[in-house]
Amino acid sequence: MQTTFTAEQLADPHVAESEKILRKCVHCGFCTATCPTYVTLGNELDSPRGRIYLIKDMLENGRPADEQIVTHIDRCLSCLSCMTTCPSGVNYMHLVDHARAHIEKTYERPFADRAIRSLLAAILPHPGRFRLALHLAKLGRPFAGLFDGIAALKPLSAMLRLAPRSKPRASKNALPGTHKAAGTRKKRVALLTGCAQSVLDPAINDSTISLLNRVGVEVVVPQGETCCGSLVHHMGREEAALASARQNVDAWIHEIEHGGLDAIVITASGCGTTIKDYGFMLRLDGAYAQKAARVSALAKDVTEFLATLELPEPANAPGLTVAYHSACSMQHGQKITRQPKELLARAGFTVKEPREGHLCCGSAGTYNIMQPEISAKLRDRKVKNIEATGATLVATGNIGCITQIASAANLPVVHTVELLDWAYGGKKPAGLGQHQAGA
Ligand code: SF4
Ligand code: SF4
Repeated sequence: MQTTFTAEQLADPHVAESEKILRKCVHCGFCTATCPTYVTLGNELDSPRGRIYLIKDMLENGRPADEQIVTHIDRCLSCLSCMTTCPSGVNYMHLVDHARAHIEKTYERPFADRAIRSLLAAILPHPGRFRLALHLAKLGRPFAGLFDGIAALKPLSAMLRLAPRSKPRASKNALPGTHKAAGTRKKRVALLTGCAQSVLDPAINDSTISLLNRVGVEVVVPQGETCCGSLVHHMGREEAALASARQNVDAWIHEIEHGGLDAIVITASGCGTTIKDYGFMLRLDGAYAQKAARVSALAKDVTEFLATLELPEPANAPGLTVAYHSACSMQHGQKITRQPKELLARAGFTVKEPREGHLCCGSAGTYNIMQPEISAKLRDRKVKNIEATGATLVATGNIGCITQIASAANLPVVHTVELLDWAYGGKKPAGLGQHQAGA
């Protein structure tokens, strides 16, 4: 794609980066066929190619964002399916991240939109506040229908409906500390315990620590770790995202220099995609660029890390048929497609892959709150495809997908690592009812 940025515009490193990305796009439109919003809405401006044109136009003309571009960029899930499909290597992720930051700086959203975004940014990355908010949401759930009729307040009703009916007890495993390997220590890793995940499903971290310890891996939860920053990053709140990234880089570099780390293990693939991008996000920060690149190189999804270990024979043979849902951040963001399925199969599960596996389930961070209608269409399509596999349960590697799919599916949804921990001698996942085999 030809561009006409001026030398003055290109002096801005963010614009220069986006210009490089734009020039790679050859307008072929292959990406439209695999874009969930284009497939759902059928509008070119809700396709990757359409959004790329809108972003080019806005940046090239040095214009503030307007309502049209905000509408179509807000509808993008950041699922990155377009990046998997694109034959020209267009880095849509960095382009849309830049567009979102530009929108945040140059566009004044309507009051209700601003208020809801600020509320989400103030609550979700903080487990204590999120736990309290879930408690309040439980009380407010019966009133969710009241907000349905007011377009600007639909996100509130989506938020109330998504809140779980009961919330599990907090786990001590989320606190800073060291979990020793059983027997000889073979590896040492840091675990990102996460923000929303540690509140919604603390069993994921518990299973991860239990499994890793059992196979000879020491797990440290470093002092000072915080939310990965992806929630605010996807809202275009760049400074807040970079502040979280710097805090995590400091915490992990401290561990690397005091005890050493073989990996930084992440159990939510949405967080993994962002942490693997810290090197890029902090590239212009002289004090952090190298440290962030070092952290990104060590970041591994838990299944990616487990696949590098020599695992023993499974202790249990649950013999269940599992539909594996590959989160977008796992398959498109991190290009991890093989390892989770191979690990499940090796552990004794029969793995089924639902049709249209490349399409997002509609969770996408806060998307299911901010764009509830499109999100519900994608969720229902995903659940239909999952249920058609005939599997008895669903495994996936991202808490957002677990919450989203479980809100509509008639079968249990658990994290992949919970099944692996169970197969290798750990606890049966609480999410599996008494009726499941292996009880
Ligand atoms: S990130 Fe997903 S929703 Fe956004 S343009 Fe690409 S394929 Fe479409
Ligand atoms: S597939 Fe790639 S090159 Fe083709 S239109 Fe989409 S982003 Fe551009």
